[in-house]
Amino acid sequence: MKARKLLMIPGPIEFEPEVIQAMAIPTTSHVAPDFVESFGHALDMMKEVWLSPSGQPFVVAGSGTLAMDMAAANLVEPGDRVLVISTGYFGERYANLLARYTDQVDVLRASRGEQVSPEQIEAYLKEKDYKLMTFTHVDTSTAVLMDPRPIGELGKKYGVLTVLDGVCSVAGEEMKQDEWGIDVAFTASQKAIGVPPGLALLMASPRAMDVWKNRIKPVANYYADWENWLPIMEAYANRKPAYFGTPAVNLILALETSLRIILEEGMDQRFNRHRKIGRAFRAAMKAAGLDMIPASEDSAANTLSAPFYPEGIAAGDFLAAASAEGVILAGGLLADIKPRYFRVGHMGATTRNDLLATVGAIESALQKNGYDLKPGACLQSAQQAYDAS
Ligand SMILES: *Cc1c(COP(=O)(O)O)cnc(C)c1O
Repeated sequence: MKARKLLMIPGPIEFEPEVIQAMAIPTTSHVAPDFVESFGHALDMMKEVWLSPSGQPFVVAGSGTLAMDMAAANLVEPGDRVLVISTGYFGERYANLLARYTDQVDVLRASRGEQVSPEQIEAYLKEKDYKLMTFTHVDTSTAVLMDPRPIGELGKKYGVLTVLDGVCSVAGEEMKQDEWGIDVAFTASQKAIGVPPGLALLMASPRAMDVWKNRIKPVANYYADWENWLPIMEAYANRKPAYFGTPAVNLILALETSLRIILEEGMDQRFNRHRKIGRAFRAAMKAAGLDMIPASEDSAANTLSAPFYPEGIAAGDFLAAASAEGVILAGGLLADIKPRYFRVGHMGATTRNDLLATVGAIESALQKNGYDLKPGACLQSAQQAYDAS
């Protein structure tokens, strides 16, 4: 019997066996020719996955929060005005983080489950002279999806840098950085990129690099300073070794493997697979009669979902029952409604089988907690929605 449970949380996710195998080698020197080639290859492939041929990639050991910090530290100077477009927990985190670099942080908050409209954003941009705005492509606390396209356009129109927190979206939700005019897009290895936790991955546009080069004051954050990392990234891209901080050698080998698998699938196919899985999962929850945090299909992410429990079901009991069925799910994250909802990650390597196993486990967990449900109803909806799209 397979003892391992299916990990269906919004990161870390289920990884491709080949990615895990790529890490399981004796660690080489970070200047060994083989490793230099792998690192350079990973940097090249990042540009294809981000759809950003003109971008400057950065790969630094750390979590997604370091990627957030890196964008802020390098692009924001004291007194700069910045706008945070918040659709949940990670928007609030970005506002707190940015306040370390400037005292001019405005937050434009969506009502829970809603998107922020381009009109609302434009009203802010007309009002004040912002240097930069951030938004969360998929907020992992609410499963709300934002469309980056109009934000990229507004950024161009008003000369405001656009920073996309893609920690729960890059390589899962459609994102074409260059075409859509996004200046910075970042993620972390453990989410839809499909590599164990430990890497911050960021792509900066030529416009963002120019703004950084023309800074007045030096970057206050030593570890995040592009001054330290840019020569390293340029060296490895040119297949030359360089040193600032020791790279996470084994994780970078895993990254190379995962990016190769992603590109073999093809970006459009991958975005489509995520759409299909997202749609099918939402159909299953609808069949179960569960409400979701996102207010509509349009505002619902495809990389994770956030359903409310039915009345009377306790979070701990439900999650334990799902785990007993072999599927690990995540609890709520928004402080004010934490015990009222759960989160299911369905990004990265997730297959139709994983989807059905997860829906089946949720169905059983609901039934075991006394919820009246026709056995197989959710599974049937998931299957139909998946196979129809
Ligand atoms: C996970 C996540 C983060 C933070 O990443 P860590 O690796 O946990 O530091 C930031 N933003 C979003 C949207 C996330 O999903």
